Amino acid sequence: MTQTASVTDTLTSVDPATGAVVGEWPVDDAEAVRAAVAAARAAARAWVGLGFDGRKKALLRWKAHLVNHADELCELVRRENGKPLDDAYLELALTVEHIDWAAKNARKALAPRKVRPGPLTANFAGVVEQRPLGVVGVIGPWNYPLYTPNGSIAYALAAGNAVVYKPSEYTTAIGHYFAAAFAKANPELPDGIIAVVTGRGETGAALVRSGVDKIAFTGSTPTGKRIMAAAAESLTPVVLECGGKDAVIVAEDADVAAAADAVAFGAMGNSGQTCVGIERAYVVKDVLDDFLAQLKSRLAGVRAGSDAEASYGPMTMPSQVDVVAAHVKDAMARGGQAVVGGLDSIRAPYIDPVVLLDVPEDAPAVVEETFGPTLTVRAVDSAAEAVELANASKYGLGSAVFSKSHGMELARAMRAGATSVNSFIGFAAQPGMPFGGVGESGVGRIHGAAGLLEFSRPHSIARQRFSIPGLALLTFDRKPSAMALTRKITELRHGRHK
Ligand code: NAD
Repeated sequence: MTQTASVTDTLTSVDPATGAVVGEWPVDDAEAVRAAVAAARAAARAWVGLGFDGRKKALLRWKAHLVNHADELCELVRRENGKPLDDAYLELALTVEHIDWAAKNARKALAPRKVRPGPLTANFAGVVEQRPLGVVGVIGPWNYPLYTPNGSIAYALAAGNAVVYKPSEYTTAIGHYFAAAFAKANPELPDGIIAVVTGRGETGAALVRSGVDKIAFTGSTPTGKRIMAAAAESLTPVVLECGGKDAVIVAEDADVAAAADAVAFGAMGNSGQTCVGIERAYVVKDVLDDFLAQLKSRLAGVRAGSDAEASYGPMTMPSQVDVVAAHVKDAMARGGQAVVGGLDSIRAPYIDPVVLLDVPEDAPAVVEETFGPTLTVRAVDSAAEAVELANASKYGLGSAVFSKSHGMELARAMRAGATSVNSFIGFAAQPGMPFGGVGESGVGRIHGAAGLLEFSRPHSIARQRFSIPGLALLTFDRKPSAMALTRKITELRHGRHK
């Protein structure tokens, strides 16, 4: 939706299953965004002043508040995002694991490092200290409205930054709830340590240009490219967590039942609206029939809906239904065979599972992110061929390989930010593992120590402890003997190399 933001503009979010209004907010324009960033800058000083221990306490109180209000929060997630309550709880559980990890590991990951001086600077003591960046602007998507933005928010906070967060226009109520929980859990702290700005793309664009010290974006690749271009104008650094087209490889020696079970959930869970959801399967031909049979049986009874028995909910964003329909239609027109579901499976806002066999490798269903409960399956001669086809994508976010004997070898060959061996999404559930993509899947990493380092900057401090008589080099009074000694040291250290 394109429109000019103004103070009179409002944003309404709705239940994607029923269209019932969940909340209505005034849209923040560029001036309101700048004001939020200025307030966050003031709050950042108090937050930094707490040190690692004080911040850890505040983050752990936040975590406990979220868990203790889980029923209310999960119900809100169900209403505004559409996912079943158990899926909402699972998302919350993973979210608090990450808050906990970031809070407890920030001190170690961001500890100062002593640097040994070289012989020409033997009189120096060197240390590299990590400093917070200041204010981090976080722009989030709607598909995992707690877990995905939190991958930036918790780690930025633990590293000592304040956060200005723009949730997706589809999950604004959840975004406000998440940030308000921090304030409720920490009433003694100043406002604005996590500030929320509300709006659509225009508000996000205003945040990029607001003078924040870094933008942490999670969303689609086209938006990521626009954000990177806008951020370049002020050299604002970015971490971009974008789209994917994750592949699974099922090798000749795979546990086929385990692979089919993981692929069924990995492709269809959350209505396929998972950045690291499985969208392509490359299956070694010897096990194809077995794999397809097991996948079909695993998917029997799996369906979309909003009733208590439904496996997953509606598509959260109405326009995505059209993308899924276009991909399926095109794939079938090009000879793809629907072995589970088909065009009839699309009954907006719900889409039941669709599995397509033998879709040409240049079809949108194989090349572009579908972001729905669909899967393409292709038979290959060998796992090596599967690796080649999997890696041919412009994306490189997650991946999965199934093999009893050479899973690690296959994993190492994948051009992706992360790989699960004999499982689906194992890396995303472990807070210590960096998360992010290669190619058009993004830039930088969230989660783990790398995720904490993303939200800090190294500050190198070299302290001269004494002067070395006869080796004063950085002065106009430099003596010829000092240069003679320098030559000797350099020749001795670097002149002989075989
Ligand atoms: P989107 O790109 O449409 O929107 C993401 C956010 O960007 C929203 O808050 C939106 O308002 C904002 N935005 C839009 N235009 C903007 C602009 N010009 N400047 C600044 N902000 C702008 O993505 P979406 O539909 O909300 O989310 C789905 C996408 O997110 C999928 O592609 C999915 O793969 C990706 N995703 C990636 C990860 C990851 O970790 N790599 C995680 C979840 C989702």
